[in-house]
Amino acid sequence: MSSLEDKVERLAELLRRSRHALALTGAGISTDSGIPDFRSPESGLWSKIDPREVATWEAFRRNPRKFYRFWMERLPSLLQARPNVTHITLARLEENGLLQGIITQNIDNLHREAGSNRIWEVHGNYKRAVCIACGRSHRIEALLAKLEEVDLPHCNGCGGLLKPDVVLFGEQLPQSFAQAAAAVGRADLLIALGTSLEVYPVAGLAPQAATGGAELAIINRDPTPYDHLACLAIRAPLGPTMALLQRLLRLER
Ligand code: ZN
Repeated sequence: MSSLEDKVERLAELLRRSRHALALTGAGISTDSGIPDFRSPESGLWSKIDPREVATWEAFRRNPRKFYRFWMERLPSLLQARPNVTHITLARLEENGLLQGIITQNIDNLHREAGSNRIWEVHGNYKRAVCIACGRSHRIEALLAKLEEVDLPHCNGCGGLLKPDVVLFGEQLPQSFAQAAAAVGRADLLIALGTSLEVYPVAGLAPQAATGGAELAIINRDPTPYDHLACLAIRAPLGPTMALLQRLLRLER
């Protein structure tokens, strides 16, 4: 057996014996779906565009037109993306009672598309927009239709400016984060996948789990600051790792 197989077998064993397993996912799981990881140094859009200029709450308020120009450039990769083997494996784990929920930092809606049901989207979801004045939620289709006619989208209800319902830098996290943190308090296993565990407060869920008595497993291409707290750290590409996990747990179709 290769060492990757040993490690994935250990992950399968952790899942089999857990009673309340959760996954924590980040940008690394969606790169195989063609969505660039904005924080990765090589592919990083952030190396070309300073996020402080466009993707902050402050910048959105100051210059929403500039924000929307940036946002519209990001949109095609989100709209075209389809779930990959990692999203599908997580959905099958839930279906088979081996996973109780997913906390995701991704805004790409791919966990839903893959069939997962219990999801905490702690950084929002690009499929929705929210009115910054009255808080009313709008669908992305309505936002796009407005953007075709006028340069800034406004709320039908109150005329307030619409913002994609995603958490910008410097913005408060939604209520779902508190719910996710409470769920981690009940978990006996937390599997972090494709996240560098560097963006807070979400990254803090990993040490919260480990110090709260849950087992922590980390699957990521690069080392993370919490590998030393993990009972299992797999540094390998996610696609082959998840395909192997599906085979070991007989989740393939
Ligand atoms: Zn409104």
